[in-house]
Amino acid sequence: MLIRLLSFLLCSGALSIFAQTTRPNIVFIMTDDHARAAVSAYDTTLIHTPNIDRIGREGMIFRNACVTNSICGPSRAVLLTGKYSHINGFRDNRSRFDGAQQTFPKILRANGYYTAMIGKWHLATEPTGFDYWNVLIGQGEYYNPDLIEMGDTVRIEGYATDVVTDIAIETLEKRRPRNQPFCLFVHQKAPHRNWMPDAKHFSLFDDRELPLPPTLFDDYAGRSRAASEQDMRIDDMWLGHDMKLFLREPAEETGTGGKKSWTPMGIEANLKRMTEAQRQAWEAYYRPITEAFYRDKPEGRALSIWKYQRYLKDYLRCVASVDDNVGRLLDYLEKTGQLDNTIIVYTSDQGFFLGEHGWYDKRFMYEPSLTIPLVMRFPPKIPAGTVSDALALNLDFASTFLDVAGITPPADMQGQSLVPLMRTGKAKGWRKSMYYHYYEYPYGWHDVKKHYGLRTQRYKLIHFYNDIDAWELYDLKRDPGETENRYGQRKYRRLTKKLKRELLRLQMQYRDTEAMARP
Ligand code: CA
Repeated sequence: MLIRLLSFLLCSGALSIFAQTTRPNIVFIMTDDHARAAVSAYDTTLIHTPNIDRIGREGMIFRNACVTNSICGPSRAVLLTGKYSHINGFRDNRSRFDGAQQTFPKILRANGYYTAMIGKWHLATEPTGFDYWNVLIGQGEYYNPDLIEMGDTVRIEGYATDVVTDIAIETLEKRRPRNQPFCLFVHQKAPHRNWMPDAKHFSLFDDRELPLPPTLFDDYAGRSRAASEQDMRIDDMWLGHDMKLFLREPAEETGTGGKKSWTPMGIEANLKRMTEAQRQAWEAYYRPITEAFYRDKPEGRALSIWKYQRYLKDYLRCVASVDDNVGRLLDYLEKTGQLDNTIIVYTSDQGFFLGEHGWYDKRFMYEPSLTIPLVMRFPPKIPAGTVSDALALNLDFASTFLDVAGITPPADMQGQSLVPLMRTGKAKGWRKSMYYHYYEYPYGWHDVKKHYGLRTQRYKLIHFYNDIDAWELYDLKRDPGETENRYGQRKYRRLTKKLKRELLRLQMQYRDTEAMARP
């Protein structure tokens, strides 16, 4: 009887209609500058993130996920288009995203998905391809953020990470039509600079000092000038804007903060938008820190360590809010019976330096900024506890979500669907090397020289160019901290030749003709 019913359904086409109405939902949570080292699924040294970990534990964790250009806007453009920066046109943060081009949300929408984009957008032009969008202006504010809802600017009282999650849940609850599957982007500002935590997390880590990374006092020996000439040292962070001190006079805002021509007006500018209660809570926590600083006057190495602790504790407190809010979203989906028919992805637009090499920020092709946390939960395809060491890229998201929705990705998308990796974490013929290209120099922030390169499971080859012509080669197995540049060493010559051939092959494959034209 059952077989007869099934064959009737198949012949009548009713099953395909059934399949269509149960197409999976997509919830894509992306934060800004969240390093793997600050997710306990990857590393338990710094912080406990139970909710993000849950996605990986009940689904899969990618241990080798990378971005193709480690900076905010470009990463977002790659996500939307599934194309490298030189193809989608958004090379650095001066760019403006061409919203007329093909993006995967547009394709999903044309195929019956309800699409919504909430939170940080940062692509200079208005979002396209979404039924509903409500985005932070530029980098966004941590407190009482201004958002542009479909063209209208509204200020919403509250902490940005909570506010964005509130709008996301409200969108699922009230806006989306029940007869359509949905694709929801939840893009947080956190934990982007200048790391202003929510009051409820102020005292987190007050009872302990965080461990110092082994390369906090790196001297960059053996590496190219690119490593020593950057402007992203924690030592140069601003005392007001970054360290949250109440300065006695603006002249105390010393250091470069990553851009010599721009000096913020301390932390006061950020506090102006707070409510009276928010401001009081802020002062109650940060005034005593300010007083202690002026009393103790740390200098030299002690000042470096003090800055590292100040920076990282606020960073991690912002991550704590992110994790709380991932939990709220998971709870909502679970409570409404949508958890298991939704692919939930948690990732970041790139990694971040948490003191490695003495740095904050990103941009470099070194591991802390190249790699991203990436966990996915999707019971229909992913068995709980799956681990993948495959080189997955942010370039792959567009093809992956189309594939999950049953749509064949267009041939001009340059990524690969991650779906074949979902069952076991492995897939035959998966890429053995990934290609990277960073552009934002000499303009912009942090003075990281232009470079491209490739990474395999074990090695990394980088070419810095423009006002420099220097190569670096790392053996990640022997030197995971990337302090021993092997380029030019006799015993690495054959390997270098092989990697350069592979680099050229990748540049041809991805049609990076500008890079190919370089020696
Ligand atoms: Ca970012």
